[in-house]
Amino acid sequence: MTTTTTAASPEFDTTFASPAKELGINTQWLASDEALQVLAGNQTAMGSAPMAQAYAGHQFGSFNPKLGDGRAHLLGEIVAPNGQRFDLQLKGSGPTPYSRRGDGRSPMGPVIREYLLSEAMAALGVPTTRSLAAVATGETVMRQGPAPGAVLTRIAPSHIRVGTFEYFAMQGDEDGVKKLADYCLQRHFSHLANHQQPYLSLFNEVMERQAKLIAQWQGFGFIHGVMNTDNMLICGATVDYGPCAFMDQFDPEKVFSSIDRQGRYRYNQQPGIGQWNLTRLAQALLPLMHTDGEKALAHAQQALDNYVKHYGAAYPRVMSNKLGFSEPQPSDQGLTEQLLAIMAEHQLDFTLCFRYLVDQIATDAFHQALGDAFIAPDELILWQQRLATDSQSQEQRYQQMKLANPAFIARNHQVAVAIRAAEDKGDYQPFYALLKVLQCPNDYQPTLRAFALAPEPQEVVQHTFCGT
Ligand code: AMP
Ligand code: MG
Repeated sequence: MTTTTTAASPEFDTTFASPAKELGINTQWLASDEALQVLAGNQTAMGSAPMAQAYAGHQFGSFNPKLGDGRAHLLGEIVAPNGQRFDLQLKGSGPTPYSRRGDGRSPMGPVIREYLLSEAMAALGVPTTRSLAAVATGETVMRQGPAPGAVLTRIAPSHIRVGTFEYFAMQGDEDGVKKLADYCLQRHFSHLANHQQPYLSLFNEVMERQAKLIAQWQGFGFIHGVMNTDNMLICGATVDYGPCAFMDQFDPEKVFSSIDRQGRYRYNQQPGIGQWNLTRLAQALLPLMHTDGEKALAHAQQALDNYVKHYGAAYPRVMSNKLGFSEPQPSDQGLTEQLLAIMAEHQLDFTLCFRYLVDQIATDAFHQALGDAFIAPDELILWQQRLATDSQSQEQRYQQMKLANPAFIARNHQVAVAIRAAEDKGDYQPFYALLKVLQCPNDYQPTLRAFALAPEPQEVVQHTFCGT
């Protein structure tokens, strides 16, 4: 742990500390000077034994045997009032044995970005790490130029990654892999512990959670941007909000990350990359699947084939919710593809277009916000015919669609405004205003219209950066 001079965010407002409430952390304490010292990494909280975790990972397809917490460290665990165990981690808190040539610090921009995007994802109901606090360090970090430093407090059900398994597997440390798998079973999958083949069950459930997660990303137009195996958590939560982004205009080939030059992690590639990453996990788990290598391989292959089944169930469910159907039907695939093709052809805004469909079910205030029709009425005929075959009541359908089709997402250009104000002027108001909107993403109000709108051409953000 390193010392960091701190300057508290002056407007700390405990009403924003929603993860704190879930975790049973006293929000008054969070605003105290002691909390500030602890969350800046200056002081070790009572009972905390900080450590940096080792992991390996496949980055853009190439294996890196030694990664690890290079600009983060674990403070410890807390048990929430509901009994669930969480990791508390500081990100940007200084060098660790895994920093290599990095400084272990983070500029304020990426901290604000992660805060807003992770909290937006949580409010959308997507499994994710959360952001408990952000602290301005008062120090300058050097990137493309000087930037103010900050530390994020990240919360996760655990930080065990596919890459954590790869770390032990690549050393041939079968005992290490087994200990880690047993730990995961106990911490996240205790209901599987009595299974006849618990490790195979563990793998299957990780796969199912990841398939569901990625289906949710697709449904919100979220592009993770850096789906390396070290950025895939075993517990199935989204992690690493680096160069990620929510799409504005729909483009199935969309890439935001400035370092993803081949488009490996583009939008329509995400489900396939999920399977590729899980194949790396299966490789690491092979010795646990069977003592006979051939049989282990057969088990792993069979299990991996289930990914297509899991994703093939999860994605239609997501789209069916968005389109207002009570149950997905096989024939809906064509309808979904047709709608996405219309959106791509007319370069429609992904979020607004789906929200526009909600308005076709029951006119709400959003209608006036959008103004012109998004899609020509004759292009919606098949969808309307399909709705007519569905028995769900209008009210049920409206509520379902509203939940599945948010009015507000963490739009790049708005996140950029919040970052600029904080970095350039120490003004956190745009950050707080945006956060408040993102915490209730489904409830449109005319006063918040500016937050719902797509960017003007000059505001469009084309590229995102890791920024670390
Ligand atoms: P990530 O972008 O979080 O997936 O990071 C990939 C690897 O680079 C991880 O091992 C990080 O700990 C490390 N890393 C990223 N930024 C820094 C930094 N500023 N200092 C040291 N290590 C870093
Ligand atoms: Mg990472």
